[in-house]
Amino acid sequence: MDFRKQFVVSPGKKLKLAAIDPAQSGGQLSNEAAQPEIGKYVTRMAEMQALLYANADQSLLVVLQALDAAGKDGVVRHLFSGMNPQGTSVFGFKQPSASEAAHDFLWRAHQRTPGKGEVVVFNRSYYEDVLVVRVHDLVPKSVWSKRYDLINDFEKLLAQNGTRIIKFFLHISPEEQLERFKQRLDDPARNWKISESDYSERELWPKYTEAYEDALEKTSTAHAPWYVIPANHKWFRNLAASQIIAETMADMKLKLPPTRVDLDDVRRKYHAAAAAQEKKNGKG
Ligand code: ATP
Ligand code: MG
Repeated sequence: MDFRKQFVVSPGKKLKLAAIDPAQSGGQLSNEAAQPEIGKYVTRMAEMQALLYANADQSLLVVLQALDAAGKDGVVRHLFSGMNPQGTSVFGFKQPSASEAAHDFLWRAHQRTPGKGEVVVFNRSYYEDVLVVRVHDLVPKSVWSKRYDLINDFEKLLAQNGTRIIKFFLHISPEEQLERFKQRLDDPARNWKISESDYSERELWPKYTEAYEDALEKTSTAHAPWYVIPANHKWFRNLAASQIIAETMADMKLKLPPTRVDLDDVRRKYHAAAAAQEKKNGKG
């Protein structure tokens, strides 16, 4: 199955999240059948990251957005753990600090975008400035409504500078969210993840849905597409996201960098050094 085609948000088309089943799992697929597939994509992602790092002429930005407990952390843990920490980083967007709030909304994001050769994952992102900010009226509509165009221009700038952008909305149902909140309550190892605001935010589900539909619809472009990933089943979420990342990286046509030295010359140097070492060892 081509999940890029299946889950991409078509630019300029009305998006209705209610029409996308968060519990779907690709027809015949099962968790057991998916695991080796996921492993294959994660390995390919890691191999291609090594090439990206070696070449240092392009970069990759993965944006993760979702309501609470939809699995952003899980995607980071499962899909990016194979990559070399050298050249890979994850940045979580919290409430802006005083100095961040004193700047334009893209300022903190721009400082964290990937340099050439790097992979960066945004766990939440500058999209919060048209999501939580809109839902809670943190700035007037006249301000947030202009941000979609600013975001599109920002992403165009990154793309023209050699950055591939993939944006995921992890789509879960309210029932599944409640189930995950329960697991966080029941499992002492997960208690730390609970926050009281999770419950008040949950009350705003329809407003968030509207804000997400608007944001995804207005900012899904050919160079920075949005994908709505059905995320009730964690394994299916991992399968769809890993395939989409691996295929996007394959499109980047990453290759080993050209050799920068005269290999014959270096080989001669090696043989001379090896002969000298042998001579020394013979004497010793
Ligand atoms: P989880 O989904 O596992 O609960 P999280 O991403 O919610 O993790 P938290 O530290 O609980 O992590 O939350 C970060 C909070 O910061 C979120 O509620 C988010 O909406 C908020 N935030 C991020 N960016 C902004 C912003 N620009 N303005 C206001 N709030 C923001
Ligand atoms: Mg939270």
